[in-house]
Amino acid sequence: MKLAARTTRIEASPTLAISAKAAQMKKQGIPVIDFGVGEPDFDTPENIKQAGIKAIQDGFTKYTPAAGLPALKEAICEKLKKENGLEYTPAQIIVSCGAKHVLYNIMIALLEAGDDALLPAPYWVTFPEQIKLADANVIVINTEEKNDFKITPDQLKQAITPKTKLLILNSPSNPTGCVYTKKELEAIADICVKNNIVVVSDECYEKIVYDGVEQVSIATLGKEIYDLTIVVNAVSKTYSMTGWRIGFAAGPTDVIKAMSEIQSHATSNPTTFAQIGAIEAYKGPQDSVKMMVAEFDKRRKLLVDGLNSIPGVSCRVPKGAFYAFPNVSGLYGKTFNGKKITNSLELSAYLLDVAQIAVVPGSAFGADNYLRFSYATATKNVIEGVERMKKAVAF
Ligand code: PLP
Repeated sequence: MKLAARTTRIEASPTLAISAKAAQMKKQGIPVIDFGVGEPDFDTPENIKQAGIKAIQDGFTKYTPAAGLPALKEAICEKLKKENGLEYTPAQIIVSCGAKHVLYNIMIALLEAGDDALLPAPYWVTFPEQIKLADANVIVINTEEKNDFKITPDQLKQAITPKTKLLILNSPSNPTGCVYTKKELEAIADICVKNNIVVVSDECYEKIVYDGVEQVSIATLGKEIYDLTIVVNAVSKTYSMTGWRIGFAAGPTDVIKAMSEIQSHATSNPTTFAQIGAIEAYKGPQDSVKMMVAEFDKRRKLLVDGLNSIPGVSCRVPKGAFYAFPNVSGLYGKTFNGKKITNSLELSAYLLDVAQIAVVPGSAFGADNYLRFSYATATKNVIEGVERMKKAVAF
């Protein structure tokens, strides 16, 4: 069968390939330590689970409006006002099947053939593929490690052309864990306003920040940038609800309306009882979030210190999310157990085979000198995983 040309443009997620191989090895009884996964290892908090169960029992098992339950949209508006200092009406909100689906709706609603979408690298693997699915051009802006993997105003200015439609910002970032300061965002906002560039602000990891760092939404920095920004968020990471598939966008009414129409024909509403669970997440007690972040923080320190103790590896301290992104280029060109390592894909394949640790090659995020370690795994795994890597790459 002849497939549509767009299918040839997208690449399968390399992160899924690594976790699939790790899962297969685990099934064979091999004790793999999995640093590959991008989801919290905690259970969904009990109050949220109970809300979902009760919702089914109470009959919330039918369609809702395609763009989400009015009560959830209200809860999201309240959350945005209280926690982010952002004023939205329910008509400016769409609820979709996770942040990934929200982002897809945005790309399909805004981009067309010939448009340029600016994407700072290292980037989350799905961003370039969604831009390509919308027939637009991926314009990568390579950030530097010494700038904490953040774009500079000059880099942004240089990347802009008359075809530039939007910029994707992801702070805290997957995979680097970098968090933009208010001042840095002000400079970016200024450039975007002057050039009429839409900002897609993926704030999925907003609550997972450390060392007193504050996550700021670029949409808070004035009326002009507010009008150009689409804020994206989800319950997935914050409340350990990855499987519930609830995310949202907040933005200009006309964009949200277009996204809602697309969604109404593509999927209809996200699962009804999962939406009720999300209302509980936003309105219920928040102590589970604090507990998860405190636990992530302990592992972050252990992992970063451990990685920095390995010759040839250096790791900046991530300020947010639950990933460490060590520079492993000091290992390239060396031979371990008869295997010469020259790039991140070879190194991650080698580590899975020899040390039974699953990590994601930096090339998947557009940065081949790095590996991504998710520390959404038990402390004992973090300690043992580092030891295994140390032995596997000793020179
Ligand atoms: N955005 C970023 C930056 C992510 O890292 C992820 C998941 O890994 C998502 C969006 C997708 O989130 P969801 O599970 O809500 O679709």
